[in-house]
Amino acid sequence: VPILDDPVEERTHDVSKLKPPNRRADKKRILVTGGAGFIGSHLVDRLMDEGHMVIVVDSLFTGKKSNLERHYNSPRFEFIRHDVIDPISLEVDQIYHLACPASPIHYKYNPIHTLKTSFLGTYNMLGLAKRTHARFLITSTSEVYGDPLVHPQHEEYWGNVNPIGERSCYDEGKRVAETLCYDFKRQNGVDIRIARIFNTYGPRMALNDGRVVSNFVGQALRGEQLTVQGSGNQTRSFCYVSDQVDGLIKLMNTEDVDGPVNIGNPHEFTIRELADVVKKAVDPNVEITYTPLTPDDPKQRKPDITKAKDVLGWEPGVELMDGLKLMTVDFKERIRNGDEGW
Ligand code: NAD
Ligand code: UDP
Repeated sequence: VPILDDPVEERTHDVSKLKPPNRRADKKRILVTGGAGFIGSHLVDRLMDEGHMVIVVDSLFTGKKSNLERHYNSPRFEFIRHDVIDPISLEVDQIYHLACPASPIHYKYNPIHTLKTSFLGTYNMLGLAKRTHARFLITSTSEVYGDPLVHPQHEEYWGNVNPIGERSCYDEGKRVAETLCYDFKRQNGVDIRIARIFNTYGPRMALNDGRVVSNFVGQALRGEQLTVQGSGNQTRSFCYVSDQVDGLIKLMNTEDVDGPVNIGNPHEFTIRELADVVKKAVDPNVEITYTPLTPDDPKQRKPDITKAKDVLGWEPGVELMDGLKLMTVDFKERIRNGDEGW
């Protein structure tokens, strides 16, 4: 008798009973929303290498199918083009919910859709987690701390966010997404994880996504001036993507983690210093030019990663100079092939 014909099974939706009997317990069915994007595609690579079944749901707003090309022929891999603002029914054991534009020019392009993605998208994926009893991890952001008055930023800090500014669709969207996660946990017992990601960089970033590392590396490779916005004294802390993916997987698979966890590299640079490191890594002859600062730009950002170290046993290992060199190889190739991204 097909299992779904049993009305009790239909009511309880207990996916443990729907698992194919021949599947190894350590191999999971994992949904990655936003898996065609920069961080998502690196995460998918790792999960596929570990032998899991991976389903990617992505609208391809900023992501690209070519980021996942290597997995197309695998029977363990599936791609579904779908916007998470609409519900979707799947059977999964874990959900990594990354779908959301992340670079300022992407999330400001259609701010209402960004908000719908953060609220409705997260609501739909939490609903899926509730029905399937899947563990749910969301990639939140250091932007929930806004223009922080506490430095470095620890998870207990509530932030300093403008609710009506140009960045608010992203910052406030992620804040309400975190609230939704906690309400699904308290009200429905959904097993949630919140990663607060700090600026992450590496191969496969869209070349023209306007983020500082992709801009500087692209500019240096083309022999253009590096566009430092404002004085360049504002700070950020840059995490290489393989470190980031390690942190996300550890967070997903560590039992009994409560509260959000910062995942980022605590080595802090001014944007001027970043420009100098990019010059050293790519081309010492490029020049720097100064352009206007965008509204509400946070003046300083550096994660306190004590919790990630203590609870997950995680800390980043890739130095900025090494990460930039790895990224440069990818960017050179893509500039040569005319793959400029978005
Ligand atoms: P990205 O733009 O490369 O990836 C986002 C992916 O989500 C893309 O593939 C895009 O097509 C998809 N997407 C966007 N809206 C969607 C929707 N409504 N439905 C379905 N798919 C949708 O960005 P990224 O840098 O890889 O960021 C991934 C996640 O990490 C995001 O949630 C972002 O907020 C978070 N994050 C990233 C950083 C960073 O520095 N890269 C920092 C903080 C948080
Ligand atoms: N920035 C810059 N030049 C650029 C792009 C960004 O100086 O070409 C600065 C920007 O003003 C901000 C920092 O770099 O202070 C990080 O910007 P990004 O958009 O990468 O990420 P954010 O942390 O602001 O989301």
